[in-house]
Amino acid sequence: MAKEPFNPFAMAQAQFDKVAAILDLDQATGELLRWPLREYQFSIPVRMEDGHVRVFRGFHVQHNDARGPAKGGIRFHPQETVDTVRALAMWMTWKTAVVDIPLGGSKGGAVCDPHNLTQGEQERLCRGWIRRMWRDIGPEVDVPAPDVMTNSQHMLWMLDEYETIRGGRFPGMITGKPVGMGGSLGRMESTGYGVVYVLRECLRELGMRPNDAVASVQGFGSVSQYVIDLLTQIGGKVTCVSCWDQNDQMAHSFFKKTGVQLKELRSIADRFGGIDKGKARDLGYEILPGEAWLEQEVDILIPAAIENQITTDNVGKIAKSVKVIVEGANGPTTPDADKAINERGIFLVPDFLANAGGVTCSYFEQVQSNQNYYWEKDEVLSKLDVKMTSAYMGVSDMAQKRKLSMRDAAYVIAISRVALACKNRSWV
Ligand code: NAD
Repeated sequence: MAKEPFNPFAMAQAQFDKVAAILDLDQATGELLRWPLREYQFSIPVRMEDGHVRVFRGFHVQHNDARGPAKGGIRFHPQETVDTVRALAMWMTWKTAVVDIPLGGSKGGAVCDPHNLTQGEQERLCRGWIRRMWRDIGPEVDVPAPDVMTNSQHMLWMLDEYETIRGGRFPGMITGKPVGMGGSLGRMESTGYGVVYVLRECLRELGMRPNDAVASVQGFGSVSQYVIDLLTQIGGKVTCVSCWDQNDQMAHSFFKKTGVQLKELRSIADRFGGIDKGKARDLGYEILPGEAWLEQEVDILIPAAIENQITTDNVGKIAKSVKVIVEGANGPTTPDADKAINERGIFLVPDFLANAGGVTCSYFEQVQSNQNYYWEKDEVLSKLDVKMTSAYMGVSDMAQKRKLSMRDAAYVIAISRVALACKNRSWV
């Protein structure tokens, strides 16, 4: 029998249903929250360089905005589907709620591969996307951000189109703008540093000292580089890093017993976070198979690359020494592997809490843009630390009080907050 295709929205709804049952949510609230509030599907005609017009499909989903303007990224991806966007929009609602920032959840996208588009075609696609959506997004309604294969330049084109149509300056309409053009300092560091802020609290809770902490990390991209940066700053050590090799079309792990050095690895990595094997060997790194990062005798594992990495096939290979897993990536652990991790008593900090530093900093960007007054980097990062630490403590208290896993506790907090906002507005 053919395998049923994976549907991320069905998975997001199943996760929601499990927590709705724990919370004993009433029927109307459950029905409201397991579906998006609004969905848009549209066509964007773009004049290509050779003069012909190509029509791209676009999506935008606003899952919930009871707690504030919706927030979520715009993805450019050739395999984009409305169900992916629906699932991601729902996860954004829970992410903004668990860190208690006054925003809802949304996600958008266009079916395309920007690698095959010129800069001019990408600009016209961004402007075309805004021409379809400008009435239903904006600083007080729904604030997009960069996501898979979109960047600060795309955001700036989108902002410019929005401001041209509206006839004014509305820098709080979008985040992820370049610094100096309405962007926030600290955004680059925010997700990785956020992961380390929650890890620090977690170690404290488990009676472990950051100075003795040894970690292994999957990925060497925007998130993991800043994880390594701050973890080393607070006295910890990362002995293994794994990343994807474009030439070999496979992953490798890079091991150094005394701890990997961020600066030297950066100097031999490409802009996609791929480390040069030969140069790493010259610098004294041992090159191991891609999955070796997971098998290390360390205290902490930090998957910070892509989804579906800890599965029933490899969860048994996690060393006995591992006490903590902090999910820097989105969805790195499959539900069955999650169960096995729980049964082994490994403490896991779930993705939508651990990597919420990015959206929290986007919120700070929005606040700064709306005020047209920009903070110093230290101010941004110390506010981020406060938010992430208090979110962690709230989830940890809930987990202990109701004897739940950290993942279920985070969901319980997030969904209760959104349900309460809907109730208080008398929507249900
Ligand atoms: P990135 O593209 O900058 O880096 C990804 C890294 O993962 C690269 O080093 C790449 O070589 C590596 N990688 C890819 N496939 C791999 C594999 N099979 N095995 C080992 N390594 C592999 O991405 P990023 O922005 O650092 O994002 C990482 C994860 O964190 C993603 O799941 C993303 O959704 C999530 N996330 C990112 C942010 C953010 O602010 N960047 C915020 C929230 C969540």
